[in-house]
Amino acid sequence: MGLRPNLLTRRAAGVASTTLALLLSTAAVGVVPAASAFSAAPSEVCAEPADVHSDARIKKGGIAKHEPNELTAKQVREREADLAAALRERASFRAGAQAAAPLASVTIPVVVHVIQRDSTRAGGNIPDSMITSQISVLNQAYSGATGGAATAFGFQLTKINRVTNPAWYPIVQGSSAERSMKTSLREGGKNTLNVYLGELSDDLLGWATFPQRKLNSMDGVVVLSESLPGGTAANYNQGDTGTHEVGHWLNLYHTFQGGCSGSGDSVSDTPAEASPAFQCPTGRDTCATAGLDPITNFMDYTYDSCMYQFTAGQASRMLTAWNAYRAA
Ligand SMILES: [Zn+2]
Repeated sequence: MGLRPNLLTRRAAGVASTTLALLLSTAAVGVVPAASAFSAAPSEVCAEPADVHSDARIKKGGIAKHEPNELTAKQVREREADLAAALRERASFRAGAQAAAPLASVTIPVVVHVIQRDSTRAGGNIPDSMITSQISVLNQAYSGATGGAATAFGFQLTKINRVTNPAWYPIVQGSSAERSMKTSLREGGKNTLNVYLGELSDDLLGWATFPQRKLNSMDGVVVLSESLPGGTAANYNQGDTGTHEVGHWLNLYHTFQGGCSGSGDSVSDTPAEASPAFQCPTGRDTCATAGLDPITNFMDYTYDSCMYQFTAGQASRMLTAWNAYRAA
């Protein structure tokens, strides 16, 4: 099909061998079937190379495949055109008093689905305390308390739904099992953040869907349960996979989107970056354009301990997208 997937993905997990130890060996290799962005029927899948930019991780000795569905320039153009169209639509509805005024602050209800193989910790049974800590991490990150710009968003945990189902464990990105899991479990409207926690396929830390005009049952974020605060995913266990994936859910691209040229991540105050940054490479500067690489930004791929901020431009982009796509 013409369009590549809209499910955005994870951050790399494969740098530290201690991390690799907990990752899967059963992952599908080479192709990732995934849902299409705007026009495809929900059941439609396509296969495509998963490992299109894997050199950075291979050089570091990791086995993780690259983000299986990072956006192409064409996909970004399509998404940006759709955002503009959605904003025009909202504006005309508002002119006719058919839509509420744009929101300046938003509390997002969060439903957390804990997918377990069995009742053991190794089988996915993480304690409630890790989940409440994750919500705290989100609130800290999105309020600017960790050092970045304050965004409009706060998060309120409304439900923890524990599901024991070996058929959904691990959660396999792009699989029919993922679709059936989400179709069965997803709750709420477009404003409700559904988080699926479990062991994940393909060495992934997480993946997310971008907002769409029409609510799709696939909407939500999937996060490796051991990436939550206190988890066992070394270097990725402070909860910032959740922060990163929710950023996608709120319409942010990676800081390295588009590399050094063009409109990059469509945010003007995140310096361009040629490729993902891993670990914490202070002083990295991969583009001739102004500014060092934004390695401390939540939308890069660095260690949790390295990333602590969104920019004002990202905060603005998220709120604009909220009012275009997710507000009532
Ligand atoms: Zn990502």
